[in-house]
Amino acid sequence: MSKDEGRILMGERWFVAPKKELGGTEMFQTEGGNFNNRYQVFCDVCGIKVDPDKITICQEQQHKTCSECFVRFEQKNICVDCLKEKVPLSKQQFKILVSVFSGICWTHGLHSVTHMPKFAIERTISELAELGYVQKKRILWMEITDVGLDVLTAYRTVYPRDRDVANLNWELRRRE
Ligand SMILES: [Zn+2]
Ligand SMILES: [Zn+2]
Repeated sequence: MSKDEGRILMGERWFVAPKKELGGTEMFQTEGGNFNNRYQVFCDVCGIKVDPDKITICQEQQHKTCSECFVRFEQKNICVDCLKEKVPLSKQQFKILVSVFSGICWTHGLHSVTHMPKFAIERTISELAELGYVQKKRILWMEITDVGLDVLTAYRTVYPRDRDVANLNWELRRRE
């Protein structure tokens, strides 16, 4: 009798769970023994490893995300990638929108809080008006629309880590 007879070989390999898949273990038998493939879960947006119990599923396209990479938008949890695809908002547009929300809506005032060049401010205002996020009320007055407010609220968790946005928020608070 050979020494190897009756011996079951076992092996295990680890994989990154593909996008939109939740991980788990795949077990299979071959003549050589029993093997497991384990799939580990990483956030589909930022790539950090996530505890499977703490995943949030994007209700737009079933992406799996960590606690930092989803926002509430239109009563749904949606991942930051889908938010950007659905309602794109550049950082410059965000800065103008958040300032308009705080009641600053003339070019000079916007320049003093955002430090953006005046031509960029004017261009951004036209873009926001075209998107329907702000509405010009009178010559020197505009307001954020309901849609604009939803978009702004969702994006508040997207850009705050950036230093220039932190500075802007500080400027706006100082003026309140
Ligand atoms: Zn993430
Ligand atoms: Zn998504």
